[in-house]
Amino acid sequence: MRHPTIDTAEQVLATTYSRMPVVFEKGAGATLWDTEGREYTDFLAGIAVCGLGHAHPAVQAALSEQAGKLLHVSNLFYTKPQVELGEWLIRHSFADRVFFCNSGAEANEAAIKLARKYFYDKGQTGRYRIIAMEQSFHGRTMGSLSATGQAKIRKGFEPVLDGFEFVPFNDLEALHAKLDETVCAVLLEPIQGEGGIVCPDSDYLPAVRKICDETGTLMMLDEIQTGMGRTGKLFAYEHAGAAPDIMTLAKALGNGLPIGAMLAREAVANAFGPGAHATTFGGTPIVTAGALAVVKTMAAEGIVAQAARTGEYFMERLQALERRHDRIAAVRGRGLLLGLKLKEEGAPLVKTCLERGFVINCVQGDILRFAPPLIISTREIDALINCLDDILSTEV
Ligand SMILES: *Cc1c(COP(=O)(O)O)cnc(C)c1O
Repeated sequence: MRHPTIDTAEQVLATTYSRMPVVFEKGAGATLWDTEGREYTDFLAGIAVCGLGHAHPAVQAALSEQAGKLLHVSNLFYTKPQVELGEWLIRHSFADRVFFCNSGAEANEAAIKLARKYFYDKGQTGRYRIIAMEQSFHGRTMGSLSATGQAKIRKGFEPVLDGFEFVPFNDLEALHAKLDETVCAVLLEPIQGEGGIVCPDSDYLPAVRKICDETGTLMMLDEIQTGMGRTGKLFAYEHAGAAPDIMTLAKALGNGLPIGAMLAREAVANAFGPGAHATTFGGTPIVTAGALAVVKTMAAEGIVAQAARTGEYFMERLQALERRHDRIAAVRGRGLLLGLKLKEEGAPLVKTCLERGFVINCVQGDILRFAPPLIISTREIDALINCLDDILSTEV
């Protein structure tokens, strides 16, 4: 019998998702429990969101305390948690200024608007085009959708915004050929997440930086999925040693609280003067107090270095699995953002894993994605590997 919550959900919720048939009730660390008391190990973390895992006491304490003081006053005033979070992000990144919003898509909207405004303010009103990547994902709002290089995601919503063009990811020549005085920015992910955990060559991002410098084009990195320690560095651009001009964050920044951020260098950020861009909820005290607890805990507990170590272990275990199973086509990713490309559809494996108490998901049809909480243990990884080993050995 289906859980009554699922029956109701199928009647009242928009039909935008085909959900897995489980009603989650609570979590702790990398463990989730459903309403029947069944236990699961979470290798998805709400799609690379809950980096510190579920019900982290430091986040809970910060939220409880702030909830008793002030939830929201708008950005017409100053509040301490927002400013302290901004200060923390500036201190730990290339950026000089930060704009807070509520989601990844909104952070990318802000980035797109900022890039256009930057050149508009310089009198270069014809410099508004943005070059993005094929197979990219930047969100579902019209602007971020227009920057998303997957026809299946744009389908049905056309015409999208004018001024977006795509080149193959990891192809410098194609990018170079597109850059002229009509292009304001290049927008890309350091590792394509929804696109299938696609890592570029190690010299790609530094080369993109160089081409952008030579042509006076802004480099915008979408670190919404790769940021906040996910790849084993606080931000994935650190691996490449090439910082962008604009960076967007969301997912793991609030460990589940709805928050996005757009960070930029001073000269670029200044194109957003008073009234140029705004949001009612962005950076509200309750959410930023929670996110501040997240970043402080990550720093105090050495979570990023831990993710790097655990990620290497996980990668080795997946590679060993690949050697044992012909059904695996490739293993890829970095840190704790890992993908297993199959030679078959991934959905049945996702379902079987769930039945056996492991939450994973599938992107692009045939790539299993692993993005567990950064606090995942090697013992939990071993358990998942054994489960996958068993499924791949026995089931068709
Ligand atoms: C999830 C994601 C987004 C969109 O974030 P939302 O909060 O869902 O709007 C944008 N870019 C990347 C790389 C993402 O992974």
